[in-house]
Amino acid sequence: MANVIVVAGAGVSGLTSALLLSRSKANKVTVVAKHMPGDYDIEYASPWAGANVLPMASEENSRWERRTWPELKRLTEEVPEAGIHFQKARVYRRVKDAEAPGYHLSDYLFSTDPWYKSVLPDFRELSKDEVIPGHDSGCEFTSVCINTVVYLSWLVGQCLKNGVVFKRVVLTDIREAKSLSHTGQPANIIVNATALGSLKLGGVEDTTMTPARAQIVLVRNEYHPMIATSGTDDSATEITYIMQRAAGGGTILGGTYDIGNWESAPDPNIALRIMKRAVEAAPGLTGGKGIEGLSVIRHGVGLRPWRKDGVRIEEEVLDESTSIVHNYGHAGWGYQGSYGCAERVVELVNEIRKRKGEDLSGEGK
Ligand code: FAD
Repeated sequence: MANVIVVAGAGVSGLTSALLLSRSKANKVTVVAKHMPGDYDIEYASPWAGANVLPMASEENSRWERRTWPELKRLTEEVPEAGIHFQKARVYRRVKDAEAPGYHLSDYLFSTDPWYKSVLPDFRELSKDEVIPGHDSGCEFTSVCINTVVYLSWLVGQCLKNGVVFKRVVLTDIREAKSLSHTGQPANIIVNATALGSLKLGGVEDTTMTPARAQIVLVRNEYHPMIATSGTDDSATEITYIMQRAAGGGTILGGTYDIGNWESAPDPNIALRIMKRAVEAAPGLTGGKGIEGLSVIRHGVGLRPWRKDGVRIEEEVLDESTSIVHNYGHAGWGYQGSYGCAERVVELVNEIRKRKGEDLSGEGK
């Protein structure tokens, strides 16, 4: 029996969900979205991302990131056309950031005894002389950096290979997705991966969604290792990170993590501070020439889909024939949690299919 699925959203969450679902031949998958890979838009977070793996979850919420790492590592090793490369990451901590009131969301990345030390390879504490000035301690591990342009397009290609059909649609209500399958049949499962769109989308209207604004500068300069620091003296909403994307994707200098700020235009003052902090943390970025040595490709702003109570991955029964499986609210970790979350989407879909009496035992991948 065909299982008719419409995935709403074509960011990394929707595409990874569609890819894993399309591995079952019984699933007929259509992806509908306002924005697709190739677009740059303030309503579409995925192209703006770095994107690397710097774990942010607490140990108890670490499932999504833990389960994603092995697949990103495999793609890096075995699938060069996915556009991912290994990079060392260095994380620098300041005691005053850990003690600051309202100290923000990636706290667990800066833990002095992080859960991820047994997951990401080559973890070690840095010696005092390896820590950059103004910081108290740090650690290093092997991570990856994804060229988002290449990777999102690769995901689309993998979906097409499995028979997924893509359609440009602007939904005003999630229930409209029910009639949008390319099969012509009503969908019995709708996957909602509309991220920040879920705030206003009829039938969802999740008012706990808000942006965590990310301003970045993309430069041609090359630099490794990747860097992230626990805080800055410029503002509680400003952070410092550097990551060089794979396959000529440029180097991302960040940034900001500003919850509730919808501003889509880059702020020139923030941009200046981002560039100054980057060359201070990594003088080698410009061979010691300061910010004048940066070759800017573009200034950008992306809105991370932040949700007050964290990601929402659950079933909601729409009517007796159709369920919605939600997968949205990934804030700043949508790539590094993408496979773990999509795997849960598949589990929920399979639970629905079993409840409806389908026999999944003989199903090939
Ligand atoms: P989106 O990419 O926003 O996709 C939403 C989709 O839903 C789009 O296709 C959109 O068109 C569609 N949609 C929404 N509403 C509607 C509607 N009404 N009708 C039809 N379609 C609709 N994550 C990491 O893991 N590592 C990083 O290093 C990292 N760095 C980042 C750096 C920056 C600068 C930014 C901005 C983000 C970063 N992130 C990172 C976070 C990551 O980008 C997001 O978590 C992720 O992209 C969210 O993906 P998504 O598919 O859920 O949402």
